[in-house]
Amino acid sequence: MMAQIKSKDTKPELVIRRALHSMGFRYSLHVKQLPGKPDIVLRKYNAIVQVNGCFWHMHGCKYSTIPKSNSAFWAAKLTANRARDEENNKRLVELGWRLCVVWECAIRDRSAEEIISVANALAEWIRFDVSVFCEIT
Ligand SMILES: [Zn+2]
Repeated sequence: MMAQIKSKDTKPELVIRRALHSMGFRYSLHVKQLPGKPDIVLRKYNAIVQVNGCFWHMHGCKYSTIPKSNSAFWAAKLTANRARDEENNKRLVELGWRLCVVWECAIRDRSAEEIISVANALAEWIRFDVSVFCEIT
């Protein structure tokens, strides 16, 4: 499993980046100056998009089961990841950013139509300032 999961440039993130780019959005990637080095930063819209891997960010869906071997280690590690996410998200909002979390399971093993509808929902949130925080699963 380890070899397939990378913290950067994971496939769902690439799918979202391509979709946003094709809709005309321009963004910065993995911005070091912001808490948690957010994946996709759209300065013009004051918006950040995080594409979260369900396992690493402990989503609670079918892709996020804790491994049976070494389960105490994994539970502690993943719980810490989750707590760090929450802290970073809070800080980003305090800094005046809007934040949308797109979960891997909204993209992974989905049909093209489903992915397009995710991209459209995301574009609507970016453009029309629907809310400070959004989550797409
Ligand atoms: Zn998930």
